[in-house]
Amino acid sequence: MKEKERLPRTRRAVLLDRAGHFVHTEIPMPKAADHEVLIRVQSVGICGSDLNYYHKGGSTIAQVRFPHLLGHELSGTVEAVGSGVKDVSPGDRVAIEPGYPCGTCEYCRTGTYNLCPEVSFMSTPIYRPYSEGAFTEYTLRPDWGLYKIPASVSYEEAAMIEPLAVGMQAVETAGAREGMTAVILGCGPIAMCILLTLRAAGIAKVYMVDVLAERVKMAEELGARKGFLKLDMEEINQIAGDTRGLGADLVFDTTDYTPLINQAVLSLKKGGRLLLLAVPHQEMISLNMLRLFTNQITVLTSFRYANQFEKAVRQIESGRIPIGKIITHRFPFEEAERAMEQASKKSGRTCKVVVNW
Ligand SMILES: [Zn+2]
Ligand SMILES: [Zn+2]
Repeated sequence: MKEKERLPRTRRAVLLDRAGHFVHTEIPMPKAADHEVLIRVQSVGICGSDLNYYHKGGSTIAQVRFPHLLGHELSGTVEAVGSGVKDVSPGDRVAIEPGYPCGTCEYCRTGTYNLCPEVSFMSTPIYRPYSEGAFTEYTLRPDWGLYKIPASVSYEEAAMIEPLAVGMQAVETAGAREGMTAVILGCGPIAMCILLTLRAAGIAKVYMVDVLAERVKMAEELGARKGFLKLDMEEINQIAGDTRGLGADLVFDTTDYTPLINQAVLSLKKGGRLLLLAVPHQEMISLNMLRLFTNQITVLTSFRYANQFEKAVRQIESGRIPIGKIITHRFPFEEAERAMEQASKKSGRTCKVVVNW
């Protein structure tokens, strides 16, 4: 194993030992095997799934087994590498893809590795082998999914590549093209990532909807043409008026709020596309099928991402996607509880909360 210096025998960790409770502790330091890389974690973004695990010990998708390490949106420095690792060396600054697909199944072989049934995904308990989360000072990763970041990209920005990849995948899946009009439901971090991706793709007419006035204002500052606090006929007519009476080409839902989704369907033009990417809080929802059918709306979903990290690094490096702007709060790991509290706030100008070692 090649390493910069002798490593300590333990690493700091913020362990979730039951719902709503962290223990700040030390856990054993892992050692990088031949094709493994030891990462010194720098920044970790807090995601909606982290909040579900933290507050409720699980989500519709997965239940946590305690003790558990949260965190899958991370950046870090390569600390040590196994003897078979060629692409990165100690000292490299990297963004880390938290899912490690099997590489051999039908999906992995055809470029849709986000659908790999054998993926091991950081901090996501449904998958085996279990892959720990990033709420620890050092973490072991396979020598796959590590993307070097240039000096001009900060660790905090690099930690935002994971949610940005979700947004980029959704925009790609929706087939967004220059000149289109889009409506984004919600103004949370993923919604903002979609907005920034659309703007970078030359899409000027983006409308956003959220019940929180400060978030709507932030969306406008980040480039939305107009932010709405509701989506009734008044707003739908405004979108129609801006599109020669036709309506929007695309709707992206990040809210999983069915009444709003059905309103948004009314804002779509015939042949438009509805892309759903919020994690559903229940199995079944009721959509306005008559409207979807008679207007020939295509309903799409987008799950995580495949092959987006490299592109995301370039978009951030070139300044086309100013991803740092979605970060509204930052905390040291010693104050992880405060970070979770802040990220859970349903009021005010909270978008992305980042925790730093
Ligand atoms: Zn996430
Ligand atoms: Zn696979």
